[in-house]
Amino acid sequence: MQSTTAICPSLFNATSAQDGILSRIRIPSGLITSVQCDAIAQLVNQFGNGEIQITNRANLQIRTSQALTLEVLQNLQDYGLASRTESVDGLRNIMASPTAGIDIHAKINTIPFVKQWDAYLSNHPELEILSSKFSVCFDGGETVSVSDRPNDICLVAVEINNEIYFDLHLGLGDRGDSPSAVGKLIDPQQTLEVLATLTEVYREYTQQKLNQNYSRSRPPRLRELLNDWGVKHYLQLVEQKFGYALRPSSYLPKREKREYKHLGIHAQKQSGLAYIGAVIPLGRLTSQQLQGLGHLAKHHGGGALRLTAWQNILITDVAEAKIAQVTREIFNLGLQISVNHPYAAIAACSGSTGCKSALTDTQTDAKAIAIHLENCIKLDHPINIHFSGCEKSCAQHHSSDIALVSKNSQAYQVYIGAGDISFGRELYPEYSTQDLPALIERLLNIYQNQRQNSEQNFSEFMNRCNLQELQKLLTLDHA
Ligand code: SF4
Repeated sequence: MQSTTAICPSLFNATSAQDGILSRIRIPSGLITSVQCDAIAQLVNQFGNGEIQITNRANLQIRTSQALTLEVLQNLQDYGLASRTESVDGLRNIMASPTAGIDIHAKINTIPFVKQWDAYLSNHPELEILSSKFSVCFDGGETVSVSDRPNDICLVAVEINNEIYFDLHLGLGDRGDSPSAVGKLIDPQQTLEVLATLTEVYREYTQQKLNQNYSRSRPPRLRELLNDWGVKHYLQLVEQKFGYALRPSSYLPKREKREYKHLGIHAQKQSGLAYIGAVIPLGRLTSQQLQGLGHLAKHHGGGALRLTAWQNILITDVAEAKIAQVTREIFNLGLQISVNHPYAAIAACSGSTGCKSALTDTQTDAKAIAIHLENCIKLDHPINIHFSGCEKSCAQHHSSDIALVSKNSQAYQVYIGAGDISFGRELYPEYSTQDLPALIERLLNIYQNQRQNSEQNFSEFMNRCNLQELQKLLTLDHA
């Protein structure tokens, strides 16, 4: 029987939440076959509320009325939806770009690396002592980049003198920061060996800490090792164990502007094929929608869906001649594909129904805003609105256009654009939840009517605004 005591849910150790037992199913690189979609749909229809949620690491999250039985868990293992080694199934999902292997700009297909690393984890139960937050990401240089997502280790494909390498990035900063380059290159053929060594040195550090009475329920994060030993010493130990020095790197990573190319219709690297990104409102979809999308992938695509870290879904390998039909069928499932749909860029953490730290029901409040915007405004740029039930900001760590952070049970702090602190510039320290939809509508209207040109995005416009003048304008607009 599934345990239900976890703070951070996994499949074998779920969380008991206000709205049921919350389980998280790891989907390495977000790749899920139509058969697996059917299995999950059947599971939530039988034991849950018929709904599935995609998380910001491209896991699937389900809510059931009771803990899952051993038989159900074994069934999920048979479908390849859970590791055969239960003790390591709780480690964070392995992340890759949802367009790995199909992106026109990809330098290398990272999916085989994800599979190798997943198999390695399953074969190494001794890694169970690691923090369940230990996370690895592969970025193949795709336009839909994941290199800025918070991860402990991120391998970013780079091209140097016509050769492809992985540039090693480590999560050195605070919670939620993007990993940073540490000046080492990895030959793709040695990727598994290097990752295994990086992990083994971290495991030995963890064991030392546990021997010194560190709590087993809160083992050290990799960033604690990095703070403790420094990157240089960590990498020296890795190289000693590995047997030789890693190639130095002076590659300077570029932080690209998010292009939202995970949504809508886009040509693939493979001639004559396209992928279609569907907007999944707050990452939530019904079992029928998941099965419907799986069915489209089976009959008109590559047989699998790609879940994204932006909580949306891609159908890949669609022949040009089938694009119109597949798009129509996505609409028939009640979903959209437009990057400018209000739901396209709204993210919310679990909120009070799924997390004890939340002061507000972020999911319901985000939905209220999306429904309001759908009825009153036509966007011509995706506007990233981020709801957080507390300052931890689980749903999204990078900067957003508008950030709403719970202040108390009936109000949010409102931040806009970029600022000195991660949420942006504080527009209001406290704003009533019920008045938020109208406030966001007014902000968007001011932006669309007063921006310099259609190229100026929301955050650029808001960063130039004088906050007092903006508040006056919002009040006048309201009167
Ligand atoms: S941001 Fe806070 S309230 Fe929301 S899920 Fe994370 S810990 Fe819970």
